[in-house]
Amino acid sequence: MTTIAERLEGAYAHIAKAAKVAGRDPKTITLLSVSKRKPLADIVAALECGQHAFGENYVQEGVDKIQTLAAQFPQFQPQWHLIGPLQSNKTAVVAEHFDWVQSLDRAKIAKRLNEQRPAHLKPIQICIQVNISGEESKSGVKPDEVLSLAQTVAQMDNLTLRGLMAIGSTDATPAVQQSEFQAMKKLFDTLKSQHPQLDTLSMGMSGDLEIAIMEGTTMVRLGTAIFGARTN
Ligand SMILES: *Cc1c(COP(=O)(O)O)cnc(C)c1O
Repeated sequence: MTTIAERLEGAYAHIAKAAKVAGRDPKTITLLSVSKRKPLADIVAALECGQHAFGENYVQEGVDKIQTLAAQFPQFQPQWHLIGPLQSNKTAVVAEHFDWVQSLDRAKIAKRLNEQRPAHLKPIQICIQVNISGEESKSGVKPDEVLSLAQTVAQMDNLTLRGLMAIGSTDATPAVQQSEFQAMKKLFDTLKSQHPQLDTLSMGMSGDLEIAIMEGTTMVRLGTAIFGARTN
């Protein structure tokens, strides 16, 4: 059995190797551990290895873990990212518990998060999710809607715009994945010319992190590579 510590070490080595090939400093690439459908014990194991940032897809599951972890292991203060779809009836609980929302896809959700963020907490760190494959079934805004949504978010006191997030096509050829990530980088650079403080281009998962690193990702979101296959 491979342990989470070993897989994490392997993931960092993989990132370092891909960064070297791409001529990039591996320190410019953050590793987000995607812990969806994995038990709290796995998150604790990763925390004990020094892992700090965790991604959850499902609001209720994420909030349960955030609260249980804070109660049972107050010595850890991880950063929690929502990376799954967010419906408007769940925004309040997200505003109360998550540090980041990477899956923002409409102004209505931004407005609610901004209003519902408790005053004693830092602004929610926001990435706009882009539907880069153009498939109707996929979440995210169309590329030509990014600039106007970014403008809306940038005006909100309790939200901080950090950048963009995308999920590459999983069943596409490497050439198609590469062109999607290139399009994301271009969109990110355009957006950054208007919002120079942006620092996050979240793209790349266990199956496509090398291409994402080659094309300029600053945050890879790894689930399977760290916690093993999700069987349930
Ligand atoms: C599940 C998920 C991941 C991680 O996927 P793996 O292939 O297990 O690395 C990353 N990002 C999002 C948005 C996800 O839903």
